[in-house]
Amino acid sequence: MSGIREALPGSGTGVSEAAGVEPFADTLARHGLFLVRDRVHTLQVNTGYLCNLRCRHCHLEAGPDREEIMSRETMAAVVSFARRFPFQVLDVTGGAPELVPDLPFLVEGLAPLAPRLLLRTNLSALDGAASESLLALCLAHRVVLVASFPSTNPSQADAQRGAGATEAAIAALKRLNAAGYGVEGTGLELDLVSNPVGAFLPVSQKTAERKFRTDLLRKWEVAFNHLYTFANVPLGRFRTWLLRTENHERYLKTLVDGFNPSAVERLMCRTLLSVSWDGFLYDCDFNLAVGRHPGDRKVHVSEVRELPPPGAPIAVGEYCYACTAGSGFT
Ligand code: SF4
Repeated sequence: MSGIREALPGSGTGVSEAAGVEPFADTLARHGLFLVRDRVHTLQVNTGYLCNLRCRHCHLEAGPDREEIMSRETMAAVVSFARRFPFQVLDVTGGAPELVPDLPFLVEGLAPLAPRLLLRTNLSALDGAASESLLALCLAHRVVLVASFPSTNPSQADAQRGAGATEAAIAALKRLNAAGYGVEGTGLELDLVSNPVGAFLPVSQKTAERKFRTDLLRKWEVAFNHLYTFANVPLGRFRTWLLRTENHERYLKTLVDGFNPSAVERLMCRTLLSVSWDGFLYDCDFNLAVGRHPGDRKVHVSEVRELPPPGAPIAVGEYCYACTAGSGFT
């Protein structure tokens, strides 16, 4: 079937596909589906793999020992790229973007270029003197903050993120609420992202949002706008953990069995491009994690003269099953 690609020539991802798992492209074809681009409206900017945490589920294996971060020169190239095309959403992620020294330069450059600028945070990195000026910058540009917060059970969350992570996250959420983020009527949006703390699929977004809202208010008097739930992607440190605990095969089977054909149309890779810390384009952050670039060579943002048109193919791998399981990762 045209428009669907599996392993791409020259991609060299180094991630072997598990034996006995039907290639994702074959599953799509069996359902008569295409995974091709729609009109691109979102640019996700990965500022690098440096992070203060070392979360068990991290598909990028980010951590304190990683040195890959976006330089000011690459940021300038990304800003120029975002200026050349009409993106509706600009989404800054990491690692922990807060730890990248030139993040304010990137935020200042991107803010005027799209109606919506998102900044991802693990919350605990929003600490220290620099966070005050970063928060002031976010307030000035009405940046939407998207905070990872896996569980309202501190011992479960700390098991995934490290001891003390929940306490630091709650302190940061309280500071954000005090500044108006997540508070009704301010227009300052604070969203949470939750992912399961083990090798299972998330509960429905609606159910989880209701529980998080009640728990956060009751336990800590913390408010937020929306909660998004995502399945963990079997890559990076999460894949290593699955293999070590002999959960890999079972988890993949859960994802494959949970394949939901109706999720394909809304997959984020249809409308998003992801740029790596060194300025190269990928179809999504997961393809970026494994180095599976579209086409037969890596393309730098400074070279791009047109966005992939509707109908352009998207590079896929077995981890795509994490995006199509249950209600999907859209
Ligand atoms: S991992 Fe998900 S977002 Fe990325 S190409 Fe596959 S289906 Fe699309």
